[in-house]
Amino acid sequence: MKDTTATRIDGKAFAATVRDKVAAHVARLKEESGITPGLAVVLVGEDPASQVYVRSKGKQTVEVGMNSYEHKLEADTSEADLLALVDKLNNDPAVHGILVQLPLPGHLDEDLVINSIDPAKDVDGFHISNVGLLGTGQKSMVPCTPLGCLMMLRDHHGSLSGMNAVVIGRSNIVGKPMAQLLLGDSCTVTIAHSRTRDLPEVVRRADIVVAAVGRPEMVPGDWIKPGATVIDVGINRIDAPEKGEGKTRLVGDCHFESCAAVAGAITPVPGGVGPMTIACLLANTLTACCRANGLPEPEGLTA
Ligand code: NAP
Repeated sequence: MKDTTATRIDGKAFAATVRDKVAAHVARLKEESGITPGLAVVLVGEDPASQVYVRSKGKQTVEVGMNSYEHKLEADTSEADLLALVDKLNNDPAVHGILVQLPLPGHLDEDLVINSIDPAKDVDGFHISNVGLLGTGQKSMVPCTPLGCLMMLRDHHGSLSGMNAVVIGRSNIVGKPMAQLLLGDSCTVTIAHSRTRDLPEVVRRADIVVAAVGRPEMVPGDWIKPGATVIDVGINRIDAPEKGEGKTRLVGDCHFESCAAVAGAITPVPGGVGPMTIACLLANTLTACCRANGLPEPEGLTA
């Protein structure tokens, strides 16, 4: 095995600093304006992974001093009932952020539900208005995972201007908004996907690689340009017989050891992008609250 040379970008530590900034701003907001930001999370059904995320979001929301409102609905909730709840939350002045946990059960139209959220409260940044605002370089709510990646890249590099960035993956929640954010910071951006020809050559041109594919350890070190920064969004659970029978472990979309031997900096999995996502959700809720009340936005917590 080669020596690991890359700087490890510690997303867990960085997320803690984001949460501290949010908590300090929330405390000032309460003291100076008597306003407490509130985040409503709607969970439909009993998907075990979603239940874990929602619990974690609720806990961290309260820890930074915000109000958390959890709405747990039965898996067979009708679309009309879900839309009625979203409408109620849209009109509740104590709620500044609304997140409908995805995926929704199959009988519910995700696009319809997401687009029924007031865009100003759409802290996931998935509403079509926010997608359009981001794409045209206007003030928007930015999806949390790509926002977290951007924050880590800015923190590591300062300016990203003129860098070649390759985003692998074109999903609406990660790849596309990530590419828009990098373009907004004046990178030269390539979006790669399953039909991209000669992906290794495309990736070798990149100063910044963001991998959001969902295929365990797909990107090996010999695709990486020496000194490049690798942001690994992938979260994949694989068998780990070395840990014992039936055991598993989490890996990213990049093969960590071989990439770290070539890259200048890399995010580990776990402990890289993952923790930044909820931290950015809290940041977005604070931003939404400040905008709703005509107050200055927190610095360094938005795109
Ligand atoms: P997704 O919707 O499944 O999109 C995957 C993308 O990868 C698609 O655009 C697909 O291309 C592309 N792709 C698939 N196989 C490929 C290949 N062989 N070569 C090049 N591109 C390929 O996934 P997602 O929701 O963006 O999530 C991606 C990963 O990030 C997953 O592991 C997910 O768990 C993780 N994730 C992590 C966080 C976090 O908080 N850290 C948040 C969200 C997601 P096509 O469009 O051509 O099919």
